[in-house]
Amino acid sequence: MKMYDISMSVYNGMAVWENLSGAQPKFTRSTNEHITTTNMDINLHTGTHIDAPLHMINDGETFKTIPLERLVGPVKVFDLTSVTDGISRTDLENLDIKQDDFILFKTKNSFHQTDTFDPNFIYLKEDGADFLVEQNINGVGIDTHGIERSQSKNPTHKKLFSNDIIIVEGLRLREITGKNYYMVAAPIKLTETEASLARVILFDNQPF
Ligand SMILES: [Zn+2]
Repeated sequence: MKMYDISMSVYNGMAVWENLSGAQPKFTRSTNEHITTTNMDINLHTGTHIDAPLHMINDGETFKTIPLERLVGPVKVFDLTSVTDGISRTDLENLDIKQDDFILFKTKNSFHQTDTFDPNFIYLKEDGADFLVEQNINGVGIDTHGIERSQSKNPTHKKLFSNDIIIVEGLRLREITGKNYYMVAAPIKLTETEASLARVILFDNQPF
């Protein structure tokens, strides 16, 4: 059995949304004799993370409504590295996407793994989100900071959230070449927030 860590490393100087310096994680280390402790100041959409509906819907649910059971299980990885700009309905219609699937999109983003944010990252277009809603999937993950850009009022996020589809962002899929894996996505157990940082691991077989 092989294991793949598809999470981003988190450090000051990493790639963050729009390269905003305020979005950089800050670590304040203090040492008292032999005891070192660190305070972390971090935006919850840093690196690999999972969104909750509150992120884009004012009265939306917080992170405590996302059960771990929905984040552990079989996953399908789709190679969409030929897509330029955004993933649309026509890119998805002929893929093996079924009800309750958890799917991950491997795109050109996976080949831009640097400390710099790419403002032209591949994203999921609104009509692609519509298609996923129609298929009634469980969740979707993408290999960059956000699942959406350049769409007024964020319809991709809103449609996925209002149809109970989980969004995982900031995956690292460059090394992933197959389609079927077993995923363990383990967010920090936050409750009142609109997102949580996560460690996401793929196994080539069910590990238990
Ligand atoms: Zn996010």
